[in-house]
Amino acid sequence: MYAPPGVRTNPNMAVPDRMRAWVLGDPGQLVFTQKPVPVPSRAEVLVRIDAVAICATDLEVIAHGPPALIQGGLPFNKDWTPGHEYMGTVAALGPGVDEFGIGDRVTVEIHAGCGQCKRCRMGMYTSCLNYGLNYGEVDKGHRANGFTTDGGFAEYAVNNINTLIRIADAMSDEEATLVVTAGTAMYGLTELGGLVAGESVVVIGPGPIGLLGVAVAKALGASPVILTGTREARLQKGLELGADHVVNVTKQDAVEAVRRLVDGKGVDYVIECSGAANAINEAGRMLNRGGKICLAAFPHEPVPVDVAHLVRNNIYVYGIRGEGKSATHRAEAFMRAKRFDATKIHTHTFPLAELPEALRYARDRVEDAIKVVVKTR
Ligand SMILES: [Zn+2]
Ligand SMILES: [Zn+2]
Repeated sequence: MYAPPGVRTNPNMAVPDRMRAWVLGDPGQLVFTQKPVPVPSRAEVLVRIDAVAICATDLEVIAHGPPALIQGGLPFNKDWTPGHEYMGTVAALGPGVDEFGIGDRVTVEIHAGCGQCKRCRMGMYTSCLNYGLNYGEVDKGHRANGFTTDGGFAEYAVNNINTLIRIADAMSDEEATLVVTAGTAMYGLTELGGLVAGESVVVIGPGPIGLLGVAVAKALGASPVILTGTREARLQKGLELGADHVVNVTKQDAVEAVRRLVDGKGVDYVIECSGAANAINEAGRMLNRGGKICLAAFPHEPVPVDVAHLVRNNIYVYGIRGEGKSATHRAEAFMRAKRFDATKIHTHTFPLAELPEALRYARDRVEDAIKVVVKTR
């Protein structure tokens, strides 16, 4: 029976010694195996994972490695479990933990950060200066589950209490896995200045972050909110999530269409979620002078940028990584209050044992898949 020293458990929620978990072998190769259930230390809990969503970054990490960083290197053949957008139930408490109780339903942020570097102290724990340093002589205790520590394609995971967000009883497991996606969009808006009520926002790219970016911007009072993309079905979802206008860029010029919608002056903010090579240049031309771009996606190759246009127009460019500054808590508050329905982007559910098929649905967008969720129970 699971009873590590100093760890509190509850007989009503017995924890086994071993669990089912997917581990990454060579690139693209996942093996369903058994592992010991991990043990929480100080300021950590054990989470029984109930559901985990698949993110484009999971596909990236499984196929290529980065930004996962395990023991200072690529994550292959290290008995490592990917997966980072999960939710579950607190199953055991590390020494001294009284902030959460066994049985609490929670969703998680990915990055715990080291808690001691300059960026962590600023609340920028997703930009921790000790990223991946959590082993051997260089152990700074950094955690980003599914990137630098074991993740959520398993039955249990250890989480720092700073990464836990209590969720309402009314929120389904599937919806709870989407909180961190909305939190990422919220962080982007936070970095742009946050108060967007009455200001105009363009979201480029109707992927999961873009679609919830529309929803979060709208919930924050932005007006108008304009979504641009290439696929009609995704743009339709954007309208359902609160976009005032959508622009299909296969049918009209994105910059012209956006400028026409805001009387030629350009918009205040652009959130770039497409990763398209020319997106930063188009964003620059959608903006008014002094406007701000948040880059939440990126092309795989270096791209030419019209720097003169950005400089002459006093345009600000922000890159974001993940979901910093407690943005996920703010996103959860909106979802709890039903300010938008994130479940509109959840399209498919698979059991944990069928993870490879779930990944295929997400990667190949089988049946128009947007968010694919894997359930462990
Ligand atoms: Zn993700
Ligand atoms: Zn840090």
